[in-house]
Amino acid sequence: MDVRLFNTLSRAVEPVVNHEVKMYHCGPTVYDFAHIGNLRSFIMNDILRRTLEYAGYEVKQVMNITDIDDKMIARAAKEGLTINALARSYENYLLADFKFLNILTPHKTPHATVHVGGMVSMIEKLIRDGFAYIATDGVYFEVDKSKDYGALAHLDLDAETESRVEGALDKKSHRDFALWKFETQEDNGAAYDASFGRGRPGWHIECSEMSRDTLGDTIDIHTGGVDLIFPHHTNEIAQSEAFTGKQFVKMWVHTEFVMIDGQKMSKSLGNHTTLKTLIERGIHPLAYRYWVLGTHYRSKANFTWEGVSGAETALSRLAGHLGETIGTVNLEYKKRFSEIITVDLDTPRALALAWEVVKDDTLSSPDKTATLLDFDQVLGLGLVPLKNEIIPENIKVLARLRDEARKNKDWKKSDEIRNEINELGYEILDTEKGQEIKKK
Ligand SMILES: [Zn+2]
Repeated sequence: MDVRLFNTLSRAVEPVVNHEVKMYHCGPTVYDFAHIGNLRSFIMNDILRRTLEYAGYEVKQVMNITDIDDKMIARAAKEGLTINALARSYENYLLADFKFLNILTPHKTPHATVHVGGMVSMIEKLIRDGFAYIATDGVYFEVDKSKDYGALAHLDLDAETESRVEGALDKKSHRDFALWKFETQEDNGAAYDASFGRGRPGWHIECSEMSRDTLGDTIDIHTGGVDLIFPHHTNEIAQSEAFTGKQFVKMWVHTEFVMIDGQKMSKSLGNHTTLKTLIERGIHPLAYRYWVLGTHYRSKANFTWEGVSGAETALSRLAGHLGETIGTVNLEYKKRFSEIITVDLDTPRALALAWEVVKDDTLSSPDKTATLLDFDQVLGLGLVPLKNEIIPENIKVLARLRDEARKNKDWKKSDEIRNEINELGYEILDTEKGQEIKKK
């Protein structure tokens, strides 16, 4: 079955043709906690991956970590930390949020600081090929050299005013954007050597390089929040296509904002809430995931505390309908679920269908449970059969540590932890979906 998605580039719902999907998500700048508006976008990336896998696609998922940029330099100076220490600490918070929200870890999470060499090579070639030039404060991409610039955002370049004047006065056009910023005193030593002058990369080139290095010249899907369409994604396309001479991305998928009191939730407006705050107020993190799924990703979602606590009630009621025994998945419902979720990720209707299963008196309780668990492979609401074996917290912590050791390829440590778990009377199995803990 084909998954169909709304492609921002064509403004139409199109099938994902290639069944080996290369998918890139713009990741966070790790200078602060992610707010729940950012997390909505990451939850939808996860739903997209799970939907593709449910429909039989093979997915290679990459999300970058931006660990060098203006905001990072300013924040590190303010907190008296090195940029690296700041980045590592907020990256860990983000990965913890991912765990709380049942977001699968992407297959690769490249870091911008590790890829600077590749960015320098890209910029060198863009200069050589006449797409970029050196100005007083950095290297700029010459937008007029790019064909179809602004197609993604449907920009009307002729009608555009010259309002975005940013950067050097000797830029050839106000639209030209920085690929590289030469070192200044405010940079606090956050600079790298390059043939065209010591400095640091612009944000846009970071994604172009990391996407190409991890997934190749042309990828199937690239996602982000709607605020990234312009200038970030528009500029990524211009650089990447000038560099390779090939199409950069086949499908662009963008998630709408979380709104609060009629305004976009954002750090700059100071109206943002974090997952940590939700948890401190006693809200289960997966209630936030349920709340997110209640709105289609292309519509704005209006955050209220009543809304998210209503979602919590609904989620716990839904989980309460799962029985101890697991029967067989009802194929009629499975077919309907596939049809709903594979057409542009219609999560509100998918949730409604889960409730239809719950209310269907013709289904036995074990079959309802099996069907809901099948849906949950995509929804990721952490539904577990009631009275399922309760694994003690200390065993779960050990299992998590073992998982980390395995990810770091520390096989010795991973074996030691496995033995410890065995000694405590539990065994751990490695399955396709990750670790499974069982009482011996
Ligand atoms: Zn990006």
